[in-house]
Amino acid sequence: MSLSPFLSQPVKSFFRLSDVQNQALKKLGISTINDILYHFPVRYGESNPGKLIRDIVGGEQVTIYGKVTGLKMGKSFKSHAPKAEGYIEDDSGRVKVIWLHQPYIARLIQNESLVKVSGKVSDRNGVLGFMNPEIESIGALPINIGESLFGESVQHGSMPIYSESKGITSRWFFHALQKVFKHPDFESVVDPIPEEILARYNLPSLRTSLIWIHAPQKESDAQVARKRFAFEEVFFIQLANEQRRHENSIHKGFIIDKPIADVDVFTKRFPFPLTDGQQKSINDILADFKKGQPMSRLLEGDVGSGKTAVAAVTAYTAVTTRPKNQGYGTLQVAYMAPTEILAKQHFESFIKYFSHLPISIGLITGTGCRKFPSKLKPGGWTDISRSQFLKWVANGEIAVVIGTHALIQKAVKFKHLSYVIIDEQHRFGTAQRQKLARKQDIIPHLLSMTATPIPRTLALTMYGDLDLSLLDQMPMGRKPVITEIVAPAKRDAVYEKIHKELKEGRQVYIICPRIDEPDPEKEKAINAKSVKEEAKRLKKDIFKDYKIDIMHSKMKPAEKDDVMEKFSNHNVDILVSTSVVEVGVNVPNATVIIIEGGERFGLSQLHQLRGRVIRGNHQAYCYVFTESQSDKTIDRLKALATAKNGFELSEIDLQLRGAGELYGGKQWGISDVAMEAIKNIKMVEAARKESRAMIESDPTLSQYPLIKQTLEGREEIHFE
Ligand code: ADP
Ligand code: MG
Repeated sequence: MSLSPFLSQPVKSFFRLSDVQNQALKKLGISTINDILYHFPVRYGESNPGKLIRDIVGGEQVTIYGKVTGLKMGKSFKSHAPKAEGYIEDDSGRVKVIWLHQPYIARLIQNESLVKVSGKVSDRNGVLGFMNPEIESIGALPINIGESLFGESVQHGSMPIYSESKGITSRWFFHALQKVFKHPDFESVVDPIPEEILARYNLPSLRTSLIWIHAPQKESDAQVARKRFAFEEVFFIQLANEQRRHENSIHKGFIIDKPIADVDVFTKRFPFPLTDGQQKSINDILADFKKGQPMSRLLEGDVGSGKTAVAAVTAYTAVTTRPKNQGYGTLQVAYMAPTEILAKQHFESFIKYFSHLPISIGLITGTGCRKFPSKLKPGGWTDISRSQFLKWVANGEIAVVIGTHALIQKAVKFKHLSYVIIDEQHRFGTAQRQKLARKQDIIPHLLSMTATPIPRTLALTMYGDLDLSLLDQMPMGRKPVITEIVAPAKRDAVYEKIHKELKEGRQVYIICPRIDEPDPEKEKAINAKSVKEEAKRLKKDIFKDYKIDIMHSKMKPAEKDDVMEKFSNHNVDILVSTSVVEVGVNVPNATVIIIEGGERFGLSQLHQLRGRVIRGNHQAYCYVFTESQSDKTIDRLKALATAKNGFELSEIDLQLRGAGELYGGKQWGISDVAMEAIKNIKMVEAARKESRAMIESDPTLSQYPLIKQTLEGREEIHFE
């Protein structure tokens, strides 16, 4: 059994298409019949309130749609009044229309134009017609005019509306799909999901769902069909997860079994006690390390919850373990950060944590390499050449390798890479680990760390192959950030408070939604504050005596680093920035963050931004400015002040705004339909349960060739 050849047929061979239409379909990512079938309506609109010409009866008041034909202008035979006559045609028939005393009709309509006609149907000895009806030229016919298959019984509000492109309209899709549905081979489309699974959750079959989603007779049909496709997609994502999980479990992992007493000695050197969450996460990881299988774990914790310490303790156990069958050296750890700034910060932290041990730490970024300890500067690091760096990583001398993406370049070869830590990375699977570890036959353990609070359902779906550890509380003694939602009238009062903070030597972030000055033409559309303009204004009018600098995503990495360094050394008092500061930068002396245009951000993102100011011991403040007058928006923003942690905020985001908008399906590589399902924990759990059962009983899916094939097709798209 395989995907029906009907479905893989190119659209080009099935429909007659103009060049413009071909281009449009390409742009929409549609090349096969299957693609058309899976190009779901984005919403459903008004159905056609008109009647088919075939169905009109004498005496009733109706609206019809159609094309004008046989139009003639002249004079009435009897009264010599101006007279126009012609026909309106639709796919079901034609009807005669006469206009008397309406000389302007000629200007309104022409032969072949599409029109809407409303009036009373006249009946002269069984010949139906219209006399002086209202007529209006229209650009396109309502979608279902002339379609007997669904036309009659389509309910109000259930006409499919698609994302369109020039030349390919919703109407085109409607008709194209009718042709597909009516084709005899459509019957050959086989459902990849086993019937008993569909039955368990009351989901319709594939063919029914396709018809219902594209041409629903009623709204509930469309809903049930969307549910089915959401399930289908989440089910396939989970199957891939379960397969990765299974594949991982058959590989060997490094056994790291450090006496707990040694671990305690290491952690006692921290200037703080570990939180329960940190201790528990460390225990989870150390337990995984002993199993002889590669760990795959996600560590989720708010900004400032102390993920680095968890990384350090667990890295410690690896880099103080000897490789098997080798009397010298240690296992190695790779620690990858999303930006150069962060990689440098981790490098500095790790030097602090490891300086009492005979452990070498390396840093590799796009701009160069460093090594600790330095032979020349005891207790410090030194710049080294890339080739020297690569040599020392390859012979195992550098035990902890910290870096940006530069870390996964081909040239970087490890001797005994046992543990990979990824900070703020979305996906990093067995395949990538294997690549990083190159020739090793043992796969490194993986710890993926994230401060991006995402709802549980999304985590279960997107990270379903990973085990989860949570840091759900903040270190003790950390004062919560005082958060205020500020109306425009209170702006000056807030600036007053900030003046006080600045006078006391604190620093301030100001986040603006945009980079450049508003384009005057677009001013109405987006008049949000911009980094450049706001920085100028603040310097001129508000904070004259303080040093202000800017940062945004269009700056080069080196420029950003430079600004960040100045801010971090307190050569800059106020940093006006876009949300690029979102990811993990650490400046403990910055205690205030202002967010302009707060309503433009999701709660999770605001929470992330606020995380910039919880690093120090001083009381921190977050002021969210909003111009919005809407109670709903203000209530939403107020959740920032009341929710306990980022996870809670992400759940609120999900309920209020929906997953698609917030977490952008594209970012995760999943469709809008599946994103809708992320609101539905029952469905996500069902898909997870079914996929796990299937892989457990049949890891290679030998009994499910169609599923296997579909899955392979999906993977290809994902990793291209
Ligand atoms: P994140 O989870 O955002 O990566 P970090 O690991 O950078 O957080 O930690 C933030 C700050 O909290 C650091 O300055 C770190 O030294 C400190 N810290 C970590 N764990 C604790 C703890 N248990 N008690 C007090 N402070 C801690
Ligand atoms: Mg961090």
